[in-house]
Amino acid sequence: MMTVSKEQIYRQLAKIAGPDGKSDLISLGLVSEIVIRDGVVAFALNIDKERAAELEPMREAAEHAVGQMEGVNRVNVVLTAHRPGGSAKPRRAGRSAIDVPGVERTIAVASGKGGVGKSTVAVNLALGLAKLGLKVGILDADIYGPSMPRLLGLGDTPMPESRERVLTPPMVFGVKAMSMGFLVGEETPVIWRGPMVISALDRMLRSVAWGRLDVLVVDMPPGTGDAQLTMAQKVKLAGAVIVSTPQDLALVDARRGLNMFRRVDVPVLGLVENMSYFLCPHCGARSEIFGHGGARGEAGRLGVEFLGEVPLDRLLRERSDQGRPIIVSDPDSPHARIFRDMAAQLWAGLEADNHDNARPFPEIVVE
Ligand code: ADP
Repeated sequence: MMTVSKEQIYRQLAKIAGPDGKSDLISLGLVSEIVIRDGVVAFALNIDKERAAELEPMREAAEHAVGQMEGVNRVNVVLTAHRPGGSAKPRRAGRSAIDVPGVERTIAVASGKGGVGKSTVAVNLALGLAKLGLKVGILDADIYGPSMPRLLGLGDTPMPESRERVLTPPMVFGVKAMSMGFLVGEETPVIWRGPMVISALDRMLRSVAWGRLDVLVVDMPPGTGDAQLTMAQKVKLAGAVIVSTPQDLALVDARRGLNMFRRVDVPVLGLVENMSYFLCPHCGARSEIFGHGGARGEAGRLGVEFLGEVPLDRLLRERSDQGRPIIVSDPDSPHARIFRDMAAQLWAGLEADNHDNARPFPEIVVE
């Protein structure tokens, strides 16, 4: 028997109108985590307590829509009044991919798992693109561990000014930066559910005064779960960069990341191998402690551009922790050159892909 996926159910629920009768349940971030077991599907719709009776038809509509799907035997939808954090409701909700006005191209920096240096690479790549003379923005969409405030030395910066709900991104090292960390604080534990992630992301994209940008670099949450997949679909992406470490296990994750973008028809612009080899801070010798080069070979096999390898290096880590990205703090270092080259190669790839950029955003077809 056919099984149904959470993603298919989210797609189905994106067709159901929410309490306002206009925006859909997904855009409004009302759907809880979906549980699927042996064809039985259960989830909750978060609503205002007072409206429970009035919204019973909405609950029934959701139950009916999912009940009709192939692979679903039974559906259990409940209305709850529990909305953790629930302030991130988008003002305008739409089913189509978010296309940020004024932003020429949006690229995602992703990784199959956490801790591979995705944010470090994202920041240095963004600054590298700025060094090419481009107008660059960086959006830290890593809601599970927003690290941009720290990486850019904005740790104590209060949330950017909010004028009629418009957020002004601070300008730092010549790029405009916005982070979930500004909204929720780096230390605040937030339990995000897929649809809420999307609501928050929607706000970060649409309610931020990005101005005119050549490139917006999005630091994605690590991994390839529902939230990431939906994000990859929701944002109109010109392409994605995947960061991996040389260990085999991480490459398995990287492959998963690659497949995720391919599934939603976003071109993968390249693979970056981080912590590729160890650069001795004393003698400058290079040791390949993880047996480096896995990503380059993998990129070749997968038909993806290889953007380069970044050494495992103490200076690089220290600069990150100091909020002084290496590409600006030590512009003459070999690391800075690596990131500059990477940015140039990435930009060249984007330019080559230019004709593709105007294509309409693909919809996932659920069979
Ligand atoms: P992710 O975004 O994948 O979770 P981060 O960019 O936050 O990863 O990096 C995780 C940790 O590893 C940070 O402390 C960072 O400074 C460090 N790090 C990242 N890349 C390197 C590198 N090439 N050499 C040394 N340390 C690194």
